[in-house]
Amino acid sequence: MTRKKVLVLGGNFGGLTAALAVQHELHGDVDVRVVSASDRFLFNPSLIWLPFGKRTAADITFPLAPTFDSHGIDFVHAEATELDLRSKKVETTAGAYDYDYLVIATGYRNDFDAVEGIGPGGNAHTITTLADAERAGRAWWQFLDEPGDVVVGAVEGAGCFGAAYEYLFNVSHQLRKAGLKSKVKLTYVTPEPVLGHFGIGGLPHGETLLGMFMRKEHIASVVDTAIGHVDDGRVVLADGTGIDFAYAMIIPPFLGQPVIAKATDIADAKGYVKVRDTYQTEPYDDVYAVGIAAAVAAPWQTAHAVGIPKTGLPTEQQAHVAAKNIVAQINGEAPNVHKSFGEIPAVCVMDAGNNGVLILADKMLPPRKHGVLIPGPQNHLMKLAFEKYFLWKAQHGYVNLP
Ligand SMILES: Cc1cc2nc3c(=O)[nH]c(=O)nc-3n(C[C@H](O)[C@H](O)[C@H](O)COP(=O)(O)OP(=O)(O)OC[C@H]3O[C@@H](n4cnc5c(N)ncnc54)[C@H](O)[C@@H]3O)c2cc1C
Repeated sequence: MTRKKVLVLGGNFGGLTAALAVQHELHGDVDVRVVSASDRFLFNPSLIWLPFGKRTAADITFPLAPTFDSHGIDFVHAEATELDLRSKKVETTAGAYDYDYLVIATGYRNDFDAVEGIGPGGNAHTITTLADAERAGRAWWQFLDEPGDVVVGAVEGAGCFGAAYEYLFNVSHQLRKAGLKSKVKLTYVTPEPVLGHFGIGGLPHGETLLGMFMRKEHIASVVDTAIGHVDDGRVVLADGTGIDFAYAMIIPPFLGQPVIAKATDIADAKGYVKVRDTYQTEPYDDVYAVGIAAAVAAPWQTAHAVGIPKTGLPTEQQAHVAAKNIVAQINGEAPNVHKSFGEIPAVCVMDAGNNGVLILADKMLPPRKHGVLIPGPQNHLMKLAFEKYFLWKAQHGYVNLP
């Protein structure tokens, strides 16, 4: 029997996990190739620390080629430009590759067109990519020389609220360290209907706990609101009122990659891939999508659009489900592992500089049986330890570890 070809697009949380899991499950009796636009793995959760000089790019990235090489996986540093799913072929900037099974793990891109005045060259910074976080950091050091008020927030449709809260509380911590806490007004602006919604529908006592954190840190908040645009030094809300700032970090909404958006038979309006609970695409049994690239429908309606955070744990679990189902297909069986995004447990740490909140729930999306938020400084230490552990695990390719 000829060896099957598994092609994985993207080499971060989803792509790295899926590629290594297939390779390990078949004991190398398969040709796995990863094509990724980035030649480095990026531990995105640590981007919240980079602007304050607590991390450098080198601390939170590692080169992908050695990891894949050491596990017998072919790595191509290139961008996928065209999906020809009927002919089972992907065009990339390094040539065309065919496949028997395709895994799309191309993640997100920032939608800076959502609101005027955000993004590179705009008036507010963001931290959602390495380059963005580096720019936000350069501006932070200038801000310390000429401090003023600070706004942290997210625009309508954003889905990365954990990072917005983390950055907010880290700013507060850094202001205190710089002796500026009493001189700077810090404001959080969010489309979430209540504090602590997090884009997962909130958890018991979440609003009270986040409100308590805000009061303790003397942070003002404007919830259930849309940002209309961002002028130089002023966030203007949709109702025309404004909040002045000397430094602003605003999380934009995310979109899928253009190469996916072009593949209209698998993509939704945002360029995410519509998947079943096996992570196969709707029309193609041999095409999978995992992580941020996979579409998730929100089970709620809010006055202002609130996106869903597609975090690391669900991304890894989806990649394992996809890998198991591909292995079943290669072995001549039907895909038999089913796990929808909403059913995956929520496990996340919200860092707050020298404090934090552990977020635990039996399911990412409601209705849930259990959900709890555990505050305390131990969570900051847990996030530090998790960062080191995860980077070690990913760099060595030990994707079967928890
Ligand atoms: C600021 C921030 C903080 C976060 N904090 C946390 C946290 O505390 N806890 C948590 O669990 N999660 C957190 N997340 C979410 C976590 O980062 C995501 O779950 C994870 O990155 C999803 O991985 P992914 O592989 O699906 O996508 P991505 O990480 O976006 O990776 C996509 C990969 O595909 C590549 N690619 C893109 N386009 C192409 C193309 N056309 N061809 C080939 N390759 C392509 C990219 O270069 C990249 O390597 C955070 C995210 C951000 C932005």
